[in-house]
Amino acid sequence: MNIAFKLIPLLALWATGAQAQSREVNIICSAQAAWCSMIAVTFEKSQGIKVNMTAKGSGEAIAQLAAEKANPKTDIWFGGTGDPHLQAAEQNLSLEYKSPTLPKLHDWAQKQAAQAGYKTVGIYSGPLGFGYNTELLAKKKLPIPKTWGDLLKPEYKGEIQSANPASSGTAYTMIATLVQLMGEDKAFDYLKGLHKNIGTYTRSGTGPIKAVARGETAVSISFVHDGPGEKAQGFPIETITPADGTGAEIGSMSIVRGSRNLEAAKKFYEWALTPAAQELAAATLQFQLPSHKEAKVDPRVPDFRKIKMINYDYAKYGQTAERRRLIQRWEKEVNSLPR
Ligand code: PLP
Repeated sequence: MNIAFKLIPLLALWATGAQAQSREVNIICSAQAAWCSMIAVTFEKSQGIKVNMTAKGSGEAIAQLAAEKANPKTDIWFGGTGDPHLQAAEQNLSLEYKSPTLPKLHDWAQKQAAQAGYKTVGIYSGPLGFGYNTELLAKKKLPIPKTWGDLLKPEYKGEIQSANPASSGTAYTMIATLVQLMGEDKAFDYLKGLHKNIGTYTRSGTGPIKAVARGETAVSISFVHDGPGEKAQGFPIETITPADGTGAEIGSMSIVRGSRNLEAAKKFYEWALTPAAQELAAATLQFQLPSHKEAKVDPRVPDFRKIKMINYDYAKYGQTAERRRLIQRWEKEVNSLPR
């Protein structure tokens, strides 16, 4: 037989094998861009699997996964607030996977996995609070806001930025936190008052603290773990958590149901749970608390023991109906009001 004929089935076999052992993984990353890039480059180099990465806020990411449901183009959703990951689990957009690493994760990360039927897992946590530009506050003779109530003071009119809860998990965490802290109607009265002082609602959750750092706004409602990274770049920024209590995110990771590169997706998932991978966050000036108990904790990571935390009900506020209802109520009763 001609040698070429012998080679054809061999090549076909090789091609099928190569596909089964997928050499690429498509990731939606809802963490900060610098961390997303570092993860992509390091994983690609160390594991020899190509990473195609897209950056999307948590709310945008779940909207994309829902739109792609019949024909998924994404394999992994990495990072972003935990509530929409729980919602993805409920909508069966993500795949059940019980990592052997689970027992090595903090209880909050394991609980996040358990309450999603193992369709997601906690990869980091960080508290919600305020960022402020020290120079701008001094120049405008504004006090440092210490409580949620302080943000309603008329002197902050136009000086505060928050993200938009429809696109941003950070802003949804704010609404859910306020509802748990004040009760729903009072929280919406509060949000209407806050609306008067908001200069801009940004698309992404990290937009407001970057605007604070660069002196474009005096105050932001942000995850406080984003503050030290801006400060390290030389910006006059500090953060504070409200004395009356606050919530925290459980940043999560999910495998997409119907992933076409499942083997590579699981490799990435396991790699992302290792202490070494989680320590890449601090290497890119991201100071969330890592979920692996053995990951080093940078001294700039916020100390939860010093913060008044509410007992955030992740199961309730991660429900599709609840998240949708609260965002719609915010659109209708708050965002539609003049400022
Ligand atoms: N960036 C950081 C550092 C975060 O911790 C999170 C939340 O997990 C996000 C971004 C999410 O961004 P967004 O509020 O746009 O969904």
